[in-house]
Amino acid sequence: MTVLAKYAKDITYCTYCPRLCRFACPVTNAETRETVTPTNKMNLLELLRSGAVQMDAGVADIFYRCAGCLTCRAYCKWRIDVPRVMERARALAVEKGVQPECLNRHISTFAEQGNPYGKALAAKFNALGLEDRVDKTADTLLFLGCTTIFHFPDLAKAIVKLLDAAGIDFAVHGDADALCCGTPALYSGAHKDFESAARRLKSKLGRYKTIISGCPSCLASFSIKYPEHGIPQRAAVLHTTELAAQLLDSKRIKVREPFAQSAMYHDPCHLAKYFGIYDAPRRILSALFEPDRVFEFSWNRDKNYCCGGGGLIPVTDPALSKSITRKRLEQFYEAAPDILVTACPTCERTFHRADPDIETRDLIELLAERLDA
Ligand code: SF4
Ligand code: SF4
Repeated sequence: MTVLAKYAKDITYCTYCPRLCRFACPVTNAETRETVTPTNKMNLLELLRSGAVQMDAGVADIFYRCAGCLTCRAYCKWRIDVPRVMERARALAVEKGVQPECLNRHISTFAEQGNPYGKALAAKFNALGLEDRVDKTADTLLFLGCTTIFHFPDLAKAIVKLLDAAGIDFAVHGDADALCCGTPALYSGAHKDFESAARRLKSKLGRYKTIISGCPSCLASFSIKYPEHGIPQRAAVLHTTELAAQLLDSKRIKVREPFAQSAMYHDPCHLAKYFGIYDAPRRILSALFEPDRVFEFSWNRDKNYCCGGGGLIPVTDPALSKSITRKRLEQFYEAAPDILVTACPTCERTFHRADPDIETRDLIELLAERLDA
């Protein structure tokens, strides 16, 4: 299969690997079956490449059993990017029309509305009251991302508050037909729709020097996935935690007083593993909490563990997603801090869904509450 030729080296390395990253894969650990190990998912692709098996619904299902968490790569001597290859395998499934049926609505909503939430997303954006900042002339663009707009309006307002407190001149991205970066289309395998979203956004983003976002997947799309699909955009990307840590270090913002509670920080996969951003969030945490009130997961930084929300698994297999989340939360329950802190709207939503009794908060929202005006 010629479309897989580009990934031949990756597929071969994994196929003949003695499953060195198996122990770390959250999907393998949750399902406890060999078919879904990184090695065997890639081995199945090798069989497809050689023509020994054909793509059908059963084969496609295996390629959707990847959270895109990059934990295999974190332990891989050759730094093989398994999720990138799974994305291509999912595109082949969609081309054949054998993707999991439960994704069909997700795919058609994105194709029609340019986001996974449908028409309601534009109304949610309008309710933020940011229209004066849309298309404003500035060097910096705030790209909120669809999950923040839809589920976390208070986080959106907290980011705006932070930028205002630092005196940053910025515009807000508000194109009603392109409020999503395209990640949901990419992971579903609808690559034509992903590339249309990327092309549309590229023309909008190109006029800014810097794009700020609190969503690690938006940033990964802009700086990694768009170029992988031949649609590079020029602006530098900055996560809100990187920006906030810089602002604290330079004293452009100050924290009034630390929280009295304790906190445990969950590293979002894409933030830690695509971008290596794990020190900046901890610098913010140390400004917000007393040192003896900050807890760490043992799987942390660039060797963290998935929250269960990645790779569209909450859509394709909600029970699997919950099982991964439960595994992640074991240490949280054991340490029993007051707040679970993260820096990704998808992680926050996944934890909220799994256990609404846990106080799960975004780091920037906590920071905004404590800003010394
Ligand atoms: S990602 Fe690396 S460690 Fe994991 S199976 Fe492939 S080659 Fe082996
Ligand atoms: S990216 Fe995560 S879920 Fe996917 S194969 Fe690697 S470790 Fe498993």
